[in-house]
Amino acid sequence: MIKISSRVSSISPSMTLAVSAKANRLKAEGKRIINFGVGEPDFNTPAHIVQAAKKALDMGLTKYVAAAGLPALKQAVCKKLKTDNGLEYSPEQIVICNGAKHAIFNALFAVIDQGDEVIIPSPYWLTYPEAVKSCGGVPVIVPTSRQNGYKLTAEQLEGALTPNSKLLILNTPSNPTGAVYGEDELKKIAYVCQKHGLLVLSDEIYEKLVYGGKTHCSIARVSPGMQGQTIVVNGLSKSYAMTGWRVGYLACDGALAGAIASFQSHTTSNVNTIAQYAALAALEGDQTPMREMVSAFESRLNYMLNLLEDLRAYGLDYVKPQGAFYVMLITQGLYGKSFGGDRVKGSLDLANALLTRAGVAVTPGICFGDDSFIRLSYALSPEDIAEGVRKIAGFAAELK
Ligand code: PLP
Repeated sequence: MIKISSRVSSISPSMTLAVSAKANRLKAEGKRIINFGVGEPDFNTPAHIVQAAKKALDMGLTKYVAAAGLPALKQAVCKKLKTDNGLEYSPEQIVICNGAKHAIFNALFAVIDQGDEVIIPSPYWLTYPEAVKSCGGVPVIVPTSRQNGYKLTAEQLEGALTPNSKLLILNTPSNPTGAVYGEDELKKIAYVCQKHGLLVLSDEIYEKLVYGGKTHCSIARVSPGMQGQTIVVNGLSKSYAMTGWRVGYLACDGALAGAIASFQSHTTSNVNTIAQYAALAALEGDQTPMREMVSAFESRLNYMLNLLEDLRAYGLDYVKPQGAFYVMLITQGLYGKSFGGDRVKGSLDLANALLTRAGVAVTPGICFGDDSFIRLSYALSPEDIAEGVRKIAGFAAELK
């Protein structure tokens, strides 16, 4: 048997995969499954972006380019960071990566040494702890509370620091909580980071998906000097319905960006050249389709929250999100109850039971480091949302 390296064997298998594999099996058997598990917009990539990729192909723009990205795309990213986020970067400070996920891995690989601690507020996006471990780091999970809107406070951050603390991962808007940090909250966190020389990886992938008049703010711009110790990560996947194109980027200190670019030159080389031309069109072209998608998500969110009100009668509760496209349904009230002799002990049991009994796929909260909830994505049609919520209610009503 081949011995797996300790680096890779330290990574936990994805719990979400087990649930989605089962959902796919049931679908293949012809069962109707409402899938609240999706993590991507159900919209097509806007036509002008697709057109730019076709044009690049027709023009023969199919060769290697600089490992850190097309100069024109890096320029466009700088312009976007200035206009949208009030952040001044030069192209040498930008690295175009294969999605935000790759940007996160690159950043961690470049700054984390064996034993360095990385603070991750929970509930967290499930990749963070695994990416930290695969770079030899130690994830330090700091649970947030519902009272604080699932946001890390400056006091909690200070309390989690040790001499080994190296970096904080902040995700705003957040997957799975939908929390969006305000400027004042970020200022307090930035103060602690600056006082202790803590780096911040700021994952802003859901930046455009904010609702109810909320605005996104990057921690990099909340106080002088903070930009120098922040690695901003963003990408095109969620904002422009481009998940399959695999284009993301990071922006940081120039020497660090140079080191990451060298590393990338030996690992993946440049991101697919054609996808980079498409990304350029996304950032520089018409923003109307993106705005329409965001407004469709907001309408669906409100529609779904209305329906979820009815679930309160069964001991379920929801958290109103301010961003991204997920709702946390607090399901603790169901734990300990049974259906046909099987007890629902936690979110994983509940997700499995909902799938097999009600034909509804959801993501258990335990995957995000918090067993009190299940995550429902509303990147699906209003008809499916209504049918899915009805089925969850039907299942909850049968629990004893
Ligand atoms: N960060 C968060 C919080 C996400 O939810 C995701 C995707 O689900 C990513 C990063 C990765 O996005 P990308 O498709 O750009 O790799």
